[in-house]
Amino acid sequence: MSDSQAEPPSQAEKSPRVGTELRSETRSLAETWFGREVAPGESINAELQITESYSGRNISIPIRVIRGGEPGPSVFVAGALHGDELNGTGAIRSLLSDREFVVRRGTTVMIPVLNVLGFERHSRYLPDRRDLNRCFPGNASGSMAMRMARVIFDAIVLRCDYGIDLHTAAVRRTNYPSARVDFNNEQCMRIAKAFGAGVILDGKGPKGSFRREATAAGCPTIVVEGGEVWKVEPSVVETMTRGIINVLKELGMVDGQPDVPVNQVRIRTTKWIRAERGGFLDLHVAPGSTVVSGQPLATNSSLVHEDQNRLEAPFDGIVIGMSTLPAVQPGEPVIHLGKLASPNSAARVERNTQADELQRTTQAHLSTNVQVTEPGKLSRPSSL
Ligand SMILES: [Zn+2]
Repeated sequence: MSDSQAEPPSQAEKSPRVGTELRSETRSLAETWFGREVAPGESINAELQITESYSGRNISIPIRVIRGGEPGPSVFVAGALHGDELNGTGAIRSLLSDREFVVRRGTTVMIPVLNVLGFERHSRYLPDRRDLNRCFPGNASGSMAMRMARVIFDAIVLRCDYGIDLHTAAVRRTNYPSARVDFNNEQCMRIAKAFGAGVILDGKGPKGSFRREATAAGCPTIVVEGGEVWKVEPSVVETMTRGIINVLKELGMVDGQPDVPVNQVRIRTTKWIRAERGGFLDLHVAPGSTVVSGQPLATNSSLVHEDQNRLEAPFDGIVIGMSTLPAVQPGEPVIHLGKLASPNSAARVERNTQADELQRTTQAHLSTNVQVTEPGKLSRPSSL
């Protein structure tokens, strides 16, 4: 461990939330982040040492700390906690190169790649095959993954007031952008709504996940998922950059009002529709499509195109994720459907999506990653 690394403060010493008075002595003083002093209005590149290599060298996470000239909350934005999920990395790098991105108040901690060891191997996992996103808050005397998680948790989460954790779908799948958040946590809901992904899913997240444990430790954190692994997809990156800026605007750290869709759909129940037979799929829906109960989602046929069976929507819903690999075996997940209340709500969600230019563009872009056909036909419908 680096001896220059600052000792994390206790919960009581964390900076207060927006709307509360900051202690006067902190207003003009330098803050220490990752062993370096950061004066008001200053931006620095820092390194957080998380472990050591087999050859005994330091392994560190590169981080940009951007401090506004005025006091305000501290917010972390993390990409690639799964080392192969790069849309968040693309979004953070896009903001870091944007001269018009100015943080006026508080401190923004930008982490393009949180899981550097997975990233170096183009892998979701750590070299010991552990999922870092199940190891929080970590343990300083535990496994390599648990120790890394503890360093990250102490140096970043316990220093911040809010967090944004950027992900994609898992390998061979794509996700329509959505924020994932505990609907019962007001602070999380506030930043999820401000992010403006268009779709907000309920849930605390798995035990040991970054956002669940960060939120439990007093740092309300949301996950945003969009697109595929190993890619930087323009419309997903734009959704994420708009969302990060929106959250910082909501918290008063960046000037201006959040630019969010007028209506965002909230989903409490989701279901993976799974293949019943082995074979090749003709998909009839795209990421972000709305469907009504009984609507065909995919037709499964043999390689010489003898129909095996058809998968249908079990309820009115919206496609929040789907497989991009059309070859399936029984039980494999095909379509991840978010449940809507009625055919009317499906129609309303469709209208709202089409009314938001970014969501409309994102839906069109993501639908080009899969071949979408009408049931009974091999050709693409002209509307796509
Ligand atoms: Zn992930």
